[in-house]
Amino acid sequence: HVKARGKDGYRFYSRSMCIDSANRLSLERDLRLALERDELRVFYQPQVCAVSGRTVGLEALVRWQHPEQGLLYPGDFLPLAEETRLISTLSEQVLAKACRDVGVWIRNGHPDLRLAVNLSPVQVEHPRFVESLMEQLEACDFPPQNLEIEITENVIMNDLDQISQKLRKLADFGIRIAIDDFGTGYSSLNYLHRLPIHTLKVDQSFVQGIRSGEDGACIVNAIVAMAHGLKLDIVAEGVENDVQLAYLRSLGCHQVQGFFYGRPAPADAVVGSLQNAPFRATAS
Ligand code: C2E
Ligand code: MG
Ligand code: MG
Ligand code: MG
Repeated sequence: HVKARGKDGYRFYSRSMCIDSANRLSLERDLRLALERDELRVFYQPQVCAVSGRTVGLEALVRWQHPEQGLLYPGDFLPLAEETRLISTLSEQVLAKACRDVGVWIRNGHPDLRLAVNLSPVQVEHPRFVESLMEQLEACDFPPQNLEIEITENVIMNDLDQISQKLRKLADFGIRIAIDDFGTGYSSLNYLHRLPIHTLKVDQSFVQGIRSGEDGACIVNAIVAMAHGLKLDIVAEGVENDVQLAYLRSLGCHQVQGFFYGRPAPADAVVGSLQNAPFRATAS
């Protein structure tokens, strides 16, 4: 018998795990079809200035409108896309859609609107990563200064010299670089002054530590202080309530993103949020 390491130590492959692998095969087949049939959707979540309440950026988050299973989330299919290398086609489609949507808004009264896109480590490791990203931006006629790529600390762990060269080229081209889920990876802080980074995104788990009357916020305090010292922009992720917002504002956190401002939504639903909404927190 082949053994697999489960949560409780070793266990044997069971029949349910065989069914899982059958499911996996059919999901893989469906995903290939999805890319051919244009079933991916891009949702957008506002990134809001913590001072003015204005939407300054939109993060593109992929969804899959599965013909039978309904709307699927990245957690349901991204790991498989990465394993099967379908991720490169998937990412191209996401970027093309996002550049098209946000490009229209940029040209229609929001010249500084930023598009934030997530990149998978598999993509970044690809030898032609830099060239293909630049080519795609040129093909969609999307201004590189309006793009921010989000990478995680795992990407950086791999080969600092190589990643540094790649990011430098992108930064020289005008693209901004953000570290997503900051503080949850296994990398050292050493990379922060060796890479051309513009933004730290404070992971939502730390933002959730902010509760009135508790001192769970110390990591957020430390990250924001460090970002100020390094002159990096800060986006706090997963802001769900006005207690968190007020606290982040008091720390001098530049931007906030989370359900408090809006859940990720299709393009036509987020257009409204681009008109300068009054600051909700000061009203309450
Ligand atoms: P992420 O980039 O850290 O994105 C934030 C996730 O937190 C999103 O989940 C978002 O819907 C969710 N979120 C936003 N605000 C709140 C909040 O206030 N509370 C809570 N509890 N959650 C909030 P989503 O859309 O399921 O995406 C999960 C992850 O999948 C993303 O994490 C990102 O790493 C990855 N991902 C999403 N789209 C893409 C893509 O197009 N390409 C790649 N490579 N990865 C993607
Ligand atoms: Mg992200
Ligand atoms: Mg994140
Ligand atoms: Mg994440």
